[in-house]
Amino acid sequence: MRVRLAPSPTGKLHIGTARTALFNWLFACQKGGKFLIRIEDTDKERSKTEFTENILEGLHWLGLNWDEEPVIQSKRIEDHRKAIRSLLDRGLAYRCYATEAELELMRENQKKHGMAPRYDNRHRDLTAKQQLTFKEEGRTSVVRFRINDETTVNWNDLVRGPMRWEGVDLGGDMVISRRAPAEEIGDPLYNLVVVLDDSNMEITHVIRGEDHIANTAKQILLYKALDLPIPKFAHTPLILNPEGKKLSKRDGVTSISEFKDMGYISEAMANYMTLLGWSVPSGMEERFTLQEAGKVFNLDRVNKAGAKFDWDKLNWLNSQVIHHLPSETLLQRLEPLWINQGWSTANKEWCIDLIKLIGPSMTLLNDGVDQAKPFFNTPLLEEDGRKQLELDGSIKAIESLLNQLEKTPWDGKQSDSAKEILTITSKSADIKKGLLMKSLRVALLGRMNGPDLITSWGLLARIGQDRLRLRRCL
Ligand code: GLU
Repeated sequence: MRVRLAPSPTGKLHIGTARTALFNWLFACQKGGKFLIRIEDTDKERSKTEFTENILEGLHWLGLNWDEEPVIQSKRIEDHRKAIRSLLDRGLAYRCYATEAELELMRENQKKHGMAPRYDNRHRDLTAKQQLTFKEEGRTSVVRFRINDETTVNWNDLVRGPMRWEGVDLGGDMVISRRAPAEEIGDPLYNLVVVLDDSNMEITHVIRGEDHIANTAKQILLYKALDLPIPKFAHTPLILNPEGKKLSKRDGVTSISEFKDMGYISEAMANYMTLLGWSVPSGMEERFTLQEAGKVFNLDRVNKAGAKFDWDKLNWLNSQVIHHLPSETLLQRLEPLWINQGWSTANKEWCIDLIKLIGPSMTLLNDGVDQAKPFFNTPLLEEDGRKQLELDGSIKAIESLLNQLEKTPWDGKQSDSAKEILTITSKSADIKKGLLMKSLRVALLGRMNGPDLITSWGLLARIGQDRLRLRRCL
């Protein structure tokens, strides 16, 4: 069992391609097969190495590791040309000399008569003399593969069930190589090269988006003409925007590296994308690892209908996955972001305790930067904090607390000691505990809302920051 992802490196790894990769990977995982990559870089103008890198990095980040070296399609061009020559020699393909202008006129006429646009097979049976005339005129030609209108293509789609496509609906004889001077063969085109490469890579199951269904019909005809074994096909539903249209760049973030930069974590992305189009078997939770899904994945549970992208659900999953990560792992993920801010992570024990404090309220990984910030940098007083300190008794509360800390300093370890310090201060200076705690919070963290006060105080006390911060309010 061998499956593949065949991305074109003409853009960053798109969520739709990543989801196709994921279903292929899960299928291979469940069946004990191989998951392969082929970089379809035959569009020379639009293909870029940086996109290939982005795609491979994105797959790796998601945990979708592949078997064998990725195949680079452009390196196989001689094989592609050879196949075209053989189709020409066998009369299964022919040169079409129609000019762009002639084809345009043909389409306009079809439109005028309310017909669907299609190539009218006009150069299918040119005589040798006609061909010679076109060549002498200096016309260029494409190569077209014959598609009989009477033919019917059938396959049993592993997601969509029995499929049937009429030859007459395939748009007429299909171009398999780009326009080139008369005696040459231009660049081979998608449907042909996919068939040759999938066959060369011994792909047994082609799992890809439903936008390729018409291509599948054409490709099956090519497999037959080339006398190659036909793989099984599965067409997965598209990812839709909330309005039910195909998710596109206009919908904002669509590439995996952008999701990563926003603070989505790989496990949550992979988990969420699996749910986009696959229904979990009963009894299985919606939060799972790739390995767990890989044990039970099958194409029967892939939906036929498009899958709507739902930010709320993704955010929920991301927070769930973050909350369930061991603190050490979450620290590993956050460390590069913290270091990037210039914060030292040398004191691991302290960092882990900080993670334990802020982790449960994180939705995105980047929240772990915002929420950790007041522990690394003394925060400015925010509006609500300033107002709190202007309240009667607030400054006195801070003074009294500082005095008490002179007598009984707190090392930040036992929270009971902190509570005791607060009780004593409140009693001896006759300050309400609420006011005392609010003032302490503002002095330490600059604002009224935030994580658990005693734990926050403890973290700051351990790095000798609590009294400094209290003092700056006086
Ligand atoms: N390069 C094609 C794409 O990115 C591959 C389609 C296929 O899987 O055959 O859409």
